[in-house]
Amino acid sequence: MKQDICAHCRQPFSRYRNRKNQDYCSKKECQRVRKAKWKREKIEKDAVFKTYNQQTNEDWHAKTPGYWKDYRKRNPEKTERNRILQRVRNQKRKKKAEKKIAKMGTPKVIAKVDVLKSNTHQAFNEFWLVPVIAKVDVLKAHILLIPDKSQRQSDTFF
Ligand SMILES: [Zn+2]
Repeated sequence: MKQDICAHCRQPFSRYRNRKNQDYCSKKECQRVRKAKWKREKIEKDAVFKTYNQQTNEDWHAKTPGYWKDYRKRNPEKTERNRILQRVRNQKRKKKAEKKIAKMGTPKVIAKVDVLKSNTHQAFNEFWLVPVIAKVDVLKAHILLIPDKSQRQSDTFF
């Protein structure tokens, strides 16, 4: 057996001799991540598997109505996180589409919303820091506005 580092939890683990391509340790969470990755790649490469997977999901939804509504009720934190990640994906998609339109020669429309401007006097809130480039997890931050004479200072706490 050879010592190796798990691709998910980064902990050392012993690789079995008969599994040369073992990148993940045997922890439940790491195996879940490995399977999810395998499935994602399989769906990307294999059209038949993709169709089969979609059909299976639809069947499951038909048999289990209200599951996701229930899930969102039970997991408000995860729901909020997913909502934000979806918003980021939508923005990326929108930007891509805008780039395409710009290439076609149509005038580009840029919408820019300044969050702090719209919330200058009560920036007492929770924010999710979402990395745009690196594929790492989102980070929840509490941003508090500390009022002083000029009402302009702010601080960030993690
Ligand atoms: Zn692991």
